[in-house]
Amino acid sequence: MARKPLIAGNWKMNLNHLEAIGTVQKLFFALPTKYFDHVDVAVCPPFTDLRSVQTLVDSDDMPITYGGQDLSPEESGAFTGDISGAMLAKLGCTWVVVGHSERRTIHGEDDALVNRKVSAALKHSLTPILCLGEGEDVRESGAHVGHCTAQLDGALAGLSGDEVARIVIAYEPVWAIGTGKTATTQDAQEVCHALRARLRELHGGAVADAVRILYGGSVKSGNVKELVAQADIDGALVGGASLDPEGFAELCALA
Ligand code: PEP
Repeated sequence: MARKPLIAGNWKMNLNHLEAIGTVQKLFFALPTKYFDHVDVAVCPPFTDLRSVQTLVDSDDMPITYGGQDLSPEESGAFTGDISGAMLAKLGCTWVVVGHSERRTIHGEDDALVNRKVSAALKHSLTPILCLGEGEDVRESGAHVGHCTAQLDGALAGLSGDEVARIVIAYEPVWAIGTGKTATTQDAQEVCHALRARLRELHGGAVADAVRILYGGSVKSGNVKELVAQADIDGALVGGASLDPEGFAELCALA
């Protein structure tokens, strides 16, 4: 089944709201409109940039979508520092990254919390970009496929097939994030294939075929084409390389 590739830039804690405007403008001008028929392009800036990005995208009618990098599992209330799904939806976000390895490692997020965040995103009609992936030790032990499918099970616990069909999964081996080490296309395809097979077991073929599975981990212009050519890889979650708008545009055009 043909799934439209999605290239999503994860800016992490980079670029303030003024720099965000310049970056999105340059990205838009560097990527001829015709490419948007073939690839969905998204940016996930820091929360403080979202209003500026929304204003720009709306005023110039840009086909670029955007999202948050995290959300609270809670609706509202005494959760200092947190941002709710309703707030992101109100800002016109399409996406929200959930369970990024930096959230799991630095902020101790576990599968149960990630599961609650996925539900909160869906409740507010945001598409969660659910990140999962193994660390280097797990990869070396050979247990990476089981590790990733267990993370998937944990993140999707209790969700219906209709809900699962609305998510995007990003397989991001932790050892490849920001390190310059990319998984081989075969390694990436192996895990993405196993994730889709698990979706099929849990929710049937239609759901498994509908869900886009991205690869993330040191993706750049030089490797995106080969990765996206794999049967079960439907795009990329891009960190460092998404901060350079011209380079990111080139990467999107190649996908
Ligand atoms: C990421 O932050 O999700 C990521 C994949 O980063 P990088 O592309 O820099 O490895």
